[in-house]
Amino acid sequence: MNKRKRGAWLYYQIKDGKIVKRKPICPRCGSFMAEHSGRLHCGRCGYTEFKSRE
Ligand SMILES: [Zn+2]
Repeated sequence: MNKRKRGAWLYYQIKDGKIVKRKPICPRCGSFMAEHSGRLHCGRCGYTEFKSRE
């Protein structure tokens, strides 16, 4: 398994052999995060996580 990707990519899980998307949760305050193009943003604490960090 590829473990290089972290952060937002943890919000995917395997279910019945398919990749399904879970609701992203802010690692800082634990509330749900809003999804924008290419990033996740927490409206509560302002935490932002970019999906692609090459
Ligand atoms: Zn937050």
